[in-house]
Amino acid sequence: MKKIIVKVGDVSVGGEGRAVVQSMCNTSTLDIEASIKQCVELYEAGAEIIRLTTQGLKEVKALRVIKERLRDRGIKTPLVADVHFSYAVAVAAANIADKVRINPGNFAKDHNVAKREFARLISVCKKSGCSIRVGINHGSLGERVVFKYGDTPQGMTAAAVEWIEMAEENGFDQIIISLKSSNTLVMTKAYRLLYDEMIKRGTLYPLHLGVTEAGNGDEGRIKSAVALSALLKEGIGDTIRVSLTENPVNEIPVALFIADYCKRGTTGCTDSELNVLPVTDDKSSNINSRRSVIIKDYNVNSYQEFILRASCDLGPPLLDNFADDVKLNVNISSEPLHIDDILKFRDNLLQATRRKFSKPEYIACPGCGRTLFDLENVFEEVKRRTSHLVGYNIAVMGCIVNGPGEMADADYGYIGEGKNRVSIYRGREAIYRSVPQEDAIDKLLELIEEDSRNKLFRPRLG
Ligand code: SF4
Repeated sequence: MKKIIVKVGDVSVGGEGRAVVQSMCNTSTLDIEASIKQCVELYEAGAEIIRLTTQGLKEVKALRVIKERLRDRGIKTPLVADVHFSYAVAVAAANIADKVRINPGNFAKDHNVAKREFARLISVCKKSGCSIRVGINHGSLGERVVFKYGDTPQGMTAAAVEWIEMAEENGFDQIIISLKSSNTLVMTKAYRLLYDEMIKRGTLYPLHLGVTEAGNGDEGRIKSAVALSALLKEGIGDTIRVSLTENPVNEIPVALFIADYCKRGTTGCTDSELNVLPVTDDKSSNINSRRSVIIKDYNVNSYQEFILRASCDLGPPLLDNFADDVKLNVNISSEPLHIDDILKFRDNLLQATRRKFSKPEYIACPGCGRTLFDLENVFEEVKRRTSHLVGYNIAVMGCIVNGPGEMADADYGYIGEGKNRVSIYRGREAIYRSVPQEDAIDKLLELIEEDSRNKLFRPRLG
């Protein structure tokens, strides 16, 4: 098996050892001082690769200045230009950044044009030493792929293989692939399919893992830990990002924990020591009511350590249907823990693994330089006002350019449209546009209630 190692600046991705940890600035790249400050904070927290929004040529110029100023300070952390759509911007960025993140399928509607532009970008990258991340997201697959496979893990894998073949035809192997989704089942399935496909083809390219739009707080951490650990413990994944709708610096300790705990060749999160017992529901003697329950004790130093360890240990068997529930005894040395906290964790874990939905499911992007409003606080407010909508899938996205595509299977969406303006979506359709931000949550609730009254929509998650 040929294993490709990709150089991103001085960092090697795809070798042995633990996954490389990365994050992304949520500053405007044009705000050079704020971006440098956040890069320094991320570097000091332990980020090994840092990505910045680079949507236009002005941002490419700003990226050059940011890179030079960081290097002057002795910070060599590789910088990645997040480009997405524009071939011209990707080419300009490839002369400055250590890696460009693109979805070549988005370069042009015509697939042959997109292929030609991808080939030209490769020729620039070969000269400049820049690597490429081909980022395929659930929800933003091209029409051609969706027509053949649907918006499915199979479609995500097929799209990735197509661009791998294209890179190979052009004699370029410095590519990293990501297949992100906010749905932990879709995400793990897609990466496993691609990994198997690469084994069949005889060449393993490095994989960038992430649960996109994972949200914030315990929920975001648990969702990420569940899916990333499931893959890392199988040896799948070479670099990871934990996307949180919070200050990106908060992502780093979480990602470092997961990467260290699930390092290849360690036993940190193997299933072997889990005690799985069949339990029959007392209320019924029906054989179908038997469930497999994992019973586990934790003696840990902090609540944060508990949720991350337990998510890495217990998430994969729940996700893969080897167990149905968990029963935990937890002792935290530094702080008292109430039984309600353990039950809350259990609910979050069952929801992250999509076994039981006890509250609304939220899809919230981490925000980036394209976000023009206070995403963190708005998301908290949306959660507070919609907490009664169990079974609904609600998205809060930072921008209109990528938000509607990336919210994938959300039922309703609150999408930032510009400065203090918001669009409200039902599925893929914008129902209200340019709503002033102060009225937007009311409008969202109004739409959901009206749809429910008119029986236009029923919650699907349960
Ligand atoms: S949806 Fe828009 S604002 Fe949110 S992370 Fe993606 S590009 Fe940035």
